[in-house]
Amino acid sequence: MSLQYDQIRVELGVDEIPRHWYNIASDLPVPIPPPLDPKTNKPAEAKSLEAIFPRAAIRQEMSTDKYIDIPEEVRDAYLLLGRPSPLQRAVRLEKALKTPAKIFYKREDMSPCGSHKPNSAIPQAYYNMKEGVENLTTETGAGQWGASLAMACAFFDMKCTVFMVKASYEQKPYRRHIMETYGAKVFASPSLETEFGKAMREKDPNTSGSLGMAISEAIEVCVRSKNTKYSLGSVLNHVMLHQTVIGQETKAQLEKIDVTPDHMVACVGGGSNFAGFTFPMIGDKIKKKNDIDFVAVEPRSVPSITKGTYEYDFGDTAGMTPLLKMYTLGHEFVPSAIHAGGLRYHGMAPAVSSVVDQGYARAVSYEQTEVYEAAMMFSKTEGIIPAPESSHAIKATIDLALEAKKKNEEKVIVFNLSGHGLLDMTGYASYIAGNMNHF
Ligand SMILES: *Cc1c(COP(=O)(O)O)cnc(C)c1O
Repeated sequence: MSLQYDQIRVELGVDEIPRHWYNIASDLPVPIPPPLDPKTNKPAEAKSLEAIFPRAAIRQEMSTDKYIDIPEEVRDAYLLLGRPSPLQRAVRLEKALKTPAKIFYKREDMSPCGSHKPNSAIPQAYYNMKEGVENLTTETGAGQWGASLAMACAFFDMKCTVFMVKASYEQKPYRRHIMETYGAKVFASPSLETEFGKAMREKDPNTSGSLGMAISEAIEVCVRSKNTKYSLGSVLNHVMLHQTVIGQETKAQLEKIDVTPDHMVACVGGGSNFAGFTFPMIGDKIKKKNDIDFVAVEPRSVPSITKGTYEYDFGDTAGMTPLLKMYTLGHEFVPSAIHAGGLRYHGMAPAVSSVVDQGYARAVSYEQTEVYEAAMMFSKTEGIIPAPESSHAIKATIDLALEAKKKNEEKVIVFNLSGHGLLDMTGYASYIAGNMNHF
């Protein structure tokens, strides 16, 4: 092999952890439509959001500043996450595919919780702590966000209550124990802890739950409790913003080895790892500094961008949130219990929706079984067992690499490995046993 090791694993120094987050709202030709107050249909006022979010997060939500400084304490905690994370070339996967394409992946699987989610959990817990909040409530799908927020709350000495989608609570018991290890309290949603949860259980005692329902429960508890705020792991502008540490690092790493991608690929649930990974480069695309093809990958059974409509909708099932302009399947949509729990959300972040609507990115969807087939191949070649969510990006990457092979083109494909799948073995077991649903 003639490749130098530093062309295979591209590292940045610890002093190269980004010092600011990048805000795509500063560069988009058409502004991201603002959230609306459902009572008046006018833009929601900052004041009305203060019941559930800290002021710093609300300011970031509405900001059009290009860069927002990362507080020192947050950068210190980013160091604990293993930031800057490596960018790695998938040499063995390329070989197995016999493709002339070069494949790179950004390693968000290496954080203590196993995903990109702590990148936003840490600043969110930090800002709440700074404003004197003592308890955070949240929802979690696969348990990745709940685990990340539980860890961040432990860092800043706060209490954490998590409503975990019932399907995942049952499929992924270890995630619950992780949250509990960090000191969080975890309920299967819909639960008997809230009026909304009780109503949902009455309506359908066997419901597998949904992120929309869990969000409603977490907000209900937040609103009725003292000194408590709510924290969302994706969808909102400030979450997209926090995740841009991923894309800023990736950009620096690609520049270091003098490589320009043809495609950048990430999976989308609420949109945060895609946004974080791509927005800094999409900012350059808007300024015509690159012509990268940005690909968002979603499950065929939760096709919010590829099959949904771009309109104002609630972020949760009960209709307690402001209205968000997004690609949506409708807030009452209950997705099938696919193993990629982190991708079971009815809508798509307004920032990501707007970027797609303005033509800077596109979306594709895949069936569960073909996604697992790709995950098996990646595990065998690269050694990392990927999260079922991230495996959607792997499937799309493999397809692009095979297309490059057909055309004999030396394309560069970079994807975001948003997490590892070591706590998602139930899905692998079902795939290997041959009894997995296509959807
Ligand atoms: C939560 C999660 C996702 C989906 O959420 P986004 O906000 O769309 O990034 C993707 N991958 C992993 C590993 C996750 O935990």
